[in-house]
Formats: sequence, structure tokens, C-alpha cells
Amino acid sequence: MVARAYCGLLGLVIASTVAAGAQEPGPFPPPKAEPPIVTPGRRDADPPSDAIVLFNGRDLGHWRSANGGPAAWTVKDGYAEVTAGAGDIVTSEKFGDVQLHIEWATPAAVKGEGQERGNSGVFLMERYEVQVLDSYENKTYYHGQAGSVYKQYAPLVNASRKPGEWQAYDIVFHAPRFDEQGKVIDRARVTVFHNGVLIQNNVEIYGLTYNDRPALYIAHDPQASLRLQDHGNPVRYRNIWIRRL
Ligand code: MG
Repeated sequence: MVARAYCGLLGLVIASTVAAGAQEPGPFPPPKAEPPIVTPGRRDADPPSDAIVLFNGRDLGHWRSANGGPAAWTVKDGYAEVTAGAGDIVTSEKFGDVQLHIEWATPAAVKGEGQERGNSGVFLMERYEVQVLDSYENKTYYHGQAGSVYKQYAPLVNASRKPGEWQAYDIVFHAPRFDEQGKVIDRARVTVFHNGVLIQNNVEIYGLTYNDRPALYIAHDPQASLRLQDHGNPVRYRNIWIRRL
């Protein structure tokens, strides 16, 4: 009796809500499986139990040069440093939708201006760049500063630490989907936290960034490598881990 009265009331509430122009509620299907147990790291920056550790400070075994051959960046004191001219490095493993944690530091000795100061980049699926740059008291175009989706979205705020200090990106990436003809039917999306601060809020990526024409999508495999950029500046990386979503 009580239940029936409740249902009646609920029906009335739904009916009046729909009448007011609101959307009908979803079907709320019950989840099919119990969420897996994951043991978090001791600190939030530590890899949880289901992460793939791509760089733990000791070697670049998960990486190779984008030009072929082993990754030729310098590894010492727990970090990997861009060796100018060695080229970008890419993971051997390929990924689609991911959560990524990556720490980086631009050179303590400040050199250059704008895009020439501490430039590197985290390329999701080898293509979509979250910019790495020394953006501490260093002006450049807004959609080219640290944490920008390069030439597409400026970060919501500038959460940069000083040059030489370690910084972190926590990235949630949704890979683009293409139809059989290669047309994008679901664009890539990215959320970025810079040093714990939200700077990209689920933005829709427009495709590949070009310097001389608008961004566009070119169809690619559902999984691709993570790529780190050699922009000629000795930027350092450490503690890189990734989770497949
Ligand atoms: Mg860059």
C-alpha cells in the first residue's frame, strides 16, 4: 500500500516534470559487473595497481625513438632528459582511451623566449599535443602555453611552477572514433589537471594541428603510441604511468 502510494506519487512527479518540458529520466540499467578493486598508490602521484608504468626513473625500455631504434634520451638521477636532436620518443605499446600521469620539469637555467623556452610536448596517440613549456613569466600565444591543447585551446588558468621545479599533468583522454570511410564520428576529448588544477575540461579536439591551416582529422588506428617531443630544449620527465580506460 505504501509502495503503491509512493509509485503513484513518483508517477505524478515524472508526469509533471515531463509536462514542464524536462527530459524523461533514463532507464538506469543496473551495472553488470562489480567494479574491480584497484589499490591506489601511497601518494596520488604513485601508480595504482592497474597502471602500466612507462617510466620509473631507471630506463626507457618502454620507449623507442620515433625515427626508429632505441630511445636516445639521457636517463640519470631518476629522470629522462630530452637530448636535442635525438628526436621524439614513442611508447612501444599503443593506447586508445587512457588516464595518464606524467611529471616534467623545464630547465632551471632559463634560456630563450616564448616557444623557445622549455618546449616539449605530450602527444596523445602520437598526434594530439598537450603542450609542455616553461610558462612561468614567459609570454606566448595563449593556446601555445603550458597545458594548452596546442593551437586549439588555452589552459583555463596558468598553474605553472618555476623553471626547474617538477610539475605534473594528469590527463584523461578519449580517443576519436572514425567510420568505415574514415570520417570522424566522435572527436577526441581531453581533460587535463596541471599540478592538480583543472586546466582543460573535457574539451573536444579539432584534429591534427597545422601551422598554416585549420586542424582536421585524418583517420587512424584505434590505438597509437604516446609520444614525447624533442623540441631542442633539455626538458626532463619522470614518473610516467598510464591506465587503459
Ligand atoms: Mg611542444
